[in-house]
Amino acid sequence: ASTTIGSSVIPIINRLQDIFSPVDGELSKISLPQVAVVGSQSSGKSSVLEALVGRDFLPRGCDICTRRPLALMLVNRPRNPGDDGREWAEFRHLPGKRFFDFTKVRQEIMAETNKEAGSNRGVSEKQIGLKISSPNVLNMTLVDLPGITKVPVGDQPTDIEARIRKMIMAYIRQENCIILAVSPANSDLATSDALQMAREADPTGSRTIGVITKLDIMDRGTNACNFLLGKVVPLRLGYVGVVNRSQEDINKNRSMQDALAYEKNFFRDHPVYNGLSDRCGIPQLAKKLNQILEQHIRMVLPGLKSELHSRLNAVAKELQKYGDVMESKAEKETMLLNILTKYCEAFSAMVDGRSQEISTK
Ligand code: GDP
Ligand code: MG
Repeated sequence: ASTTIGSSVIPIINRLQDIFSPVDGELSKISLPQVAVVGSQSSGKSSVLEALVGRDFLPRGCDICTRRPLALMLVNRPRNPGDDGREWAEFRHLPGKRFFDFTKVRQEIMAETNKEAGSNRGVSEKQIGLKISSPNVLNMTLVDLPGITKVPVGDQPTDIEARIRKMIMAYIRQENCIILAVSPANSDLATSDALQMAREADPTGSRTIGVITKLDIMDRGTNACNFLLGKVVPLRLGYVGVVNRSQEDINKNRSMQDALAYEKNFFRDHPVYNGLSDRCGIPQLAKKLNQILEQHIRMVLPGLKSELHSRLNAVAKELQKYGDVMESKAEKETMLLNILTKYCEAFSAMVDGRSQEISTK
């Protein structure tokens, strides 16, 4: 499933799916925290989100591209027989219309942005809602936000900076929001807007991950080593450095796979970063995010567990009623009971910490 959406964000999905497969629809009950990107304009926020999701569909570029908040809801669709497992996107403003072609999704985001914010670089806080339905994701929302700008251009009002800051704060202030604070390595990291805003919203740094982009275009002779190590602005959850596609790559339609391979080689061959491999690369960022999401899942599991236990009891009672009369149905129920029991055991093991991994073994 490595080419499917969200697969790099949440590989735990596969392990969870093993557990959940006996009971359809259960997975869709787990709801994960929201993940939002903050940073200055053109720092690489949209690029990072896209790389995490593993698909091309967001407007990116050197000018202000993201001009309305985009809430990207990943929605788990239980695997049912007869479902071809295809992923599709659906906009909140176009209910019922399924997009299977993700380049069309980008076009629609741009058209819808223009509709509300005009075509002359205006910005609007009105959110675009985009839902992606897939059997390969966990329920979570990724939010792409306009970047912080200082000087108004085009149709932007004179107080553009304050407006954008307010818009961003409304998202990242929420306690269940994981903040990806994106700073480009080719500008002064110590004065990063992203880190400054993240600190304002999350003073203890318990839900902020620092992301340093553009490591490939730093000044010769400089590197972001001290930053990645947290020696400049410490962050509890630490930093990850990444290399996304450049504008030239975008113009040439360089694929996501190509870009990831390039990034991998870049870090492997770099004299400084090859010693920091646990802090470099989109896969590492996905891993970090996973760990946080997994912690969250562990937290909500006890609730799910008790719900399952009560369902199990209900099935057991039902089963007693049938006695020997309806043998074939009883057999069916016994099977179900067995399945549920196994399922609960797997859960108990996980919740009690007897098993480190989420596993059905
Ligand atoms: P946003 O405004 O923060 O959403 O930034 P975008 O994702 O739209 O990226 C802005 C520009 O920076 C685009 O032209 C990207 O191609 C380029 N870019 C983003 N990340 C990197 C990177 O890691 N390296 C290089 N060379 N260019 C990047
Ligand atoms: Mg953007």
